[in-house]
Amino acid sequence: MADVETVLAANEKASREALAPRADETDQARRFPRENLKALGAAGVLGLLIPQAYGGSGGTIAEMARALEMEARGCASTAMVTLMHFCAMATITAKGSEELKQSVLPRAARGEHLGTLAFSEAGSGGHFYMPVSEARQNGNGKLLSASKSFVTSAGEADSYVVSTRRAGATSATDVNLYLVPRGADGFTVRGKFEGLGLAGNASAPAALSDVKVDDKARIGEEGSGFQIMLEVVLPHFQIGVASISIGIAAAAFDLITARARERKYEQAGGAALASIPRVQFLVAEMAIELSAGRAYLNETIRKAMAGDPAAMIDVLGVKAKAAEACLGVVSRAMTLGGGWAFGRRGGLERMFRDAQAAAVMAPASDVIKDFVGKASLGIPLF
Ligand SMILES: Cc1cc2nc3c(=O)[nH]c(=O)nc-3n(C[C@H](O)[C@H](O)[C@H](O)COP(=O)(O)OP(=O)(O)OC[C@H]3O[C@@H](n4cnc5c(N)ncnc54)[C@H](O)[C@@H]3O)c2cc1C
Repeated sequence: MADVETVLAANEKASREALAPRADETDQARRFPRENLKALGAAGVLGLLIPQAYGGSGGTIAEMARALEMEARGCASTAMVTLMHFCAMATITAKGSEELKQSVLPRAARGEHLGTLAFSEAGSGGHFYMPVSEARQNGNGKLLSASKSFVTSAGEADSYVVSTRRAGATSATDVNLYLVPRGADGFTVRGKFEGLGLAGNASAPAALSDVKVDDKARIGEEGSGFQIMLEVVLPHFQIGVASISIGIAAAAFDLITARARERKYEQAGGAALASIPRVQFLVAEMAIELSAGRAYLNETIRKAMAGDPAAMIDVLGVKAKAAEACLGVVSRAMTLGGGWAFGRRGGLERMFRDAQAAAVMAPASDVIKDFVGKASLGIPLF
């Protein structure tokens, strides 16, 4: 088992030397980034959050954020696949039975097992914490049937953390989480991912049709799924998506500032794009957006790590703010990139498309603001 700093250094190397050079090809071919995951797995990154007792590095949410920002600078599709794996592993680590942990975590720590979340359903859309599917009793076990609308790494991941309402649920939040292995009878991936950005993500719809599970596959106590989603999944997911947004923004900023220095105008005696005051102004706005987004992210991580009760509002808000900061940076970068960027040269246009996902991924930025507004006014969220 490698220590956290060694894994983070290897993650940075992989991001620069493997993820970044392949990012355009992954995007254009809309190919699942299997080679990148192999490289990350070999470097111990897939075990970053897994406790040392199961062969991982025992990293924290702060270290997860560092890893994801670095990956997103190289290839945002790969970073999103890694984030969904981190969320699944954090859930199993926090609430899985010992048997479930032993069946998944050591292999994941060795880079031999990829996990993901299958929460979102067509019937409840971005309100992912309220699935409309409901388990049915099947002798001592259950039958799961659900229409999952977006599953990152669909058909590529080895296991899926699936949400569903409890058999005979008494409310919309009476939910269980189950671990379903790839290849389970009745689990099918429906179609290909045609998304605007994060094209390597394989975020396809998937259907569960009478998938048999027993209580051993349940993660956590009976009926505790909603609580687990809020306490374990949400902080990892929100901070993770925010880190990816900051990573995309940082990559776009580096790219466009280099371009502004290099782009010269013959008619102006070889003056650089960077010498134009309006360009400097836009770059200043980008720098400020990026620093503000990063500062909010760091403050959220500090509060979450300290167990601050006020952390939840920031855990919600930071994903929306980082998404806005990222869109602000990449949109300005597209303007400054001109025909070079519009002509899909240099990777900026890929970053512009990748940056759009964070605001719609659940909870969407608008839903987050609904929550933050209610929480700030003392109105119950549910
Ligand atoms: C690249 C990508 C990968 C994904 N990967 C996964 C995954 O691995 N696992 C998974 O479970 N899901 C995943 N998702 C799904 C995602 O998390 C959302 O569930 C999905 O994008 C919601 O889409 P929808 O069209 O159903 O949203 P809708 O519910 O139709 O919402 C559409 C819009 O309506 C507005 N809106 C809705 N409700 C409110 C409200 N209460 N207040 C204010 N505004 C509101 C918002 O503007 C929102 O953006 C992924 C999505 C993307 C884009």
